[in-house]
Amino acid sequence: MSGKRTEVAVIPGDGIGPEVMESALGVLEAVGADVEQVPFEVGFGRWKRTGEALSAEDLESIKQCDCVLFGAITTPPDPKYRSVLLRLRKELDLFANIRPFSSSRLDLIVVRENTEGLYSGIEVLGEEECRTVRVITRRGSRRIAERACLLASRRRRLTIVHKSNVLKSDILFLKTCREVAESLSVPHDDLLVDAAAYHLVMRPERFDVIVTTNLFGDILSDLCAGLVGSLGLCASANLGESRALFEPIHGSAPDIAGQGIANPVGAVRSAAMMLDWLGQAEKARAIEAAVGRALEGGVKTPDLGGSSSTRQVTEEIVRQIDSARKI
Ligand code: ATP
Repeated sequence: MSGKRTEVAVIPGDGIGPEVMESALGVLEAVGADVEQVPFEVGFGRWKRTGEALSAEDLESIKQCDCVLFGAITTPPDPKYRSVLLRLRKELDLFANIRPFSSSRLDLIVVRENTEGLYSGIEVLGEEECRTVRVITRRGSRRIAERACLLASRRRRLTIVHKSNVLKSDILFLKTCREVAESLSVPHDDLLVDAAAYHLVMRPERFDVIVTTNLFGDILSDLCAGLVGSLGLCASANLGESRALFEPIHGSAPDIAGQGIANPVGAVRSAAMMLDWLGQAEKARAIEAAVGRALEGGVKTPDLGGSSSTRQVTEEIVRQIDSARKI
């Protein structure tokens, strides 16, 4: 590596995004992360002010950074507004969305295809009829299956989640995922998405690594977030061939924004996933351990039944990092 420091594009975004980002940055500092922050003001707030949520220059500068740390951005249901996150995922070709979930009852990873499916962006909007095109390609299916198999080969097995009996486009997805799993000797099975939702609630321990298409992955991950106790706990990585963006899986939560009660753990864990990806695995583990001890100690935001503020949870995580260092 050259002498250049690792540059992280920091996008706090809207709603609770800036609140949880402040926590994540505080925790990165406490753990001594070797990263330089490059801040970007993009999102819905900027769109309201300037008519542009993310400029071409922003995009170029973001591409120059080593990776992105993302808070949350509001996406209004306005046909003129293009989702910033979807644009970043497409422009940076971040095709694999890796979402780990763990609690006393489950330990699984959802691997969601991130660039095609029903989020293709190919839409025809009319007064009487609207269409959204669901795109499934062999290339897209193959590369997400390969990522999922890589994870599953270090764990137990892969479950391919689809709806190929009704959505014929999923026949290609299922077939390709099976071929990849077989060629890499990864134990695998498959489930229709509705059955998968049912089994996730009834027997979550049955699952290990799930690979699925874009919308199914989006929905099943919120279901898994409910199973582990709160959306606010869950982190994710969006990975391409050489680029990466890390974000909590929750949105901008306008209903609680500005109250100082957002759970920062998902954002903090996303920062830990980022450090792991950047090769600072020991610091990532230190953050994860500190988060675990803070939660066990009962310092929790209201979404988890506690009464602590975002700041108090952050301070407790930082305190846990500091005290582990002294041992
Ligand atoms: P998006 O479309 O961007 O996903 P959304 O409003 O549908 O936005 P979220 O913003 O994720 O979804 O919010 C869903 C619910 O979960 C809201 O009630 C919100 O308050 C809650 N929530 C989300 N994130 C957190 C968090 N970090 N801490 C506490 N509650 C949260």
